[in-house]
Amino acid sequence: MSVIYERVALIGLGLIASSMFWAIKRGGLAGEVTGYARSRETRDTARDIGLCDRVCESALEAVEGADLIVLCVPVGAMGDVAAEIAGALKPGATVTDVGSVKRHVIEMVGPYLPQNVHFVPAHPLAGTEHSGPRSGFAELFDNRWCLLVPVEGTDPDAIERLRELWLSMGANVDEMDADHHDLVLAVTSHAPHLIAYTMVGVADDLRRVTDSEVIKYSAAGFRDFTRIAASDPTMWRDVFLSNKDATLEILGRFTEELFALQRAIRTGDGDHLHAYFTRTRAIRRGIIEAGQDTDAPNFGRGGSRP
Ligand code: NAP
Repeated sequence: MSVIYERVALIGLGLIASSMFWAIKRGGLAGEVTGYARSRETRDTARDIGLCDRVCESALEAVEGADLIVLCVPVGAMGDVAAEIAGALKPGATVTDVGSVKRHVIEMVGPYLPQNVHFVPAHPLAGTEHSGPRSGFAELFDNRWCLLVPVEGTDPDAIERLRELWLSMGANVDEMDADHHDLVLAVTSHAPHLIAYTMVGVADDLRRVTDSEVIKYSAAGFRDFTRIAASDPTMWRDVFLSNKDATLEILGRFTEELFALQRAIRTGDGDHLHAYFTRTRAIRRGIIEAGQDTDAPNFGRGGSRP
């Protein structure tokens, strides 16, 4: 493979940024990758493990001369980072992000960017419950989707180049508009995460009653919930606060369906339960046929640790 961007800057050095770095290195896709994280600890770790060709002491230094700048911080921090780097961006550069919510990021980041840079928001649908600079690996994006969410009027060449990068990092690429993205993700990822958080919270309450039985007899279904519920609290707080409307819409529908199932159980309506579970089983088969299956339920994040 060949170099797609001469210089790439990664702002934030956690799971997604470190996976991007290793995937870029695997493919020889950039001349130089610079990186910056806000804490000294993360910057030191990055230097220790060879994450980035050059770890910088400021975001401004990292973006200087970069052709592609990737914002890899929690959704709630994107606007502040954009404000910080805006004045140092090279004319003609592309700014992108990897945030799990798109409308909010576009509204928070867009206004800070000068006219002479391209803004192409993106979201790789791949992750694990691990975070931080040591958690990344080159294969994270292999055969996963990356959604590009370009705003109207964006230079098609800038979009194409970013598409090329994600394809070369192993991902499949699609384009979507921001509101549709946020609704789809509320269904496939955000609401399921909230349900997992809730289920683990309920079990924890129960544990107080039944001592350690919940942990001791924890079967696969519940263990999967605990894995999801171990995801980074800052990232997920920001996801819910910034994708409020779509998540609440889906949770409203979820509650209605839950009530219907509750009634079926109470009234002994086995036909209803059987028909419902038959429908959901077909959905699972569809996912497997689409090649998006993984060993364990992981609510659309797709990655697994090596
Ligand atoms: P992560 O491993 O927790 O890393 C986050 C990075 O952002 C760290 O380097 C952290 O710096 C920095 N950071 C945190 N708060 C900040 C702030 N207020 N200002 C500046 N920098 C800050 O996170 P991640 O999983 O890579 O997620 C990064 C982005 O990718 C998020 O927007 C998330 O929505 C999106 N995403 C995540 C997943 C997933 O499953 N994890 C999947 C797809 C997309 P320090 O280390 O110095 O604290």
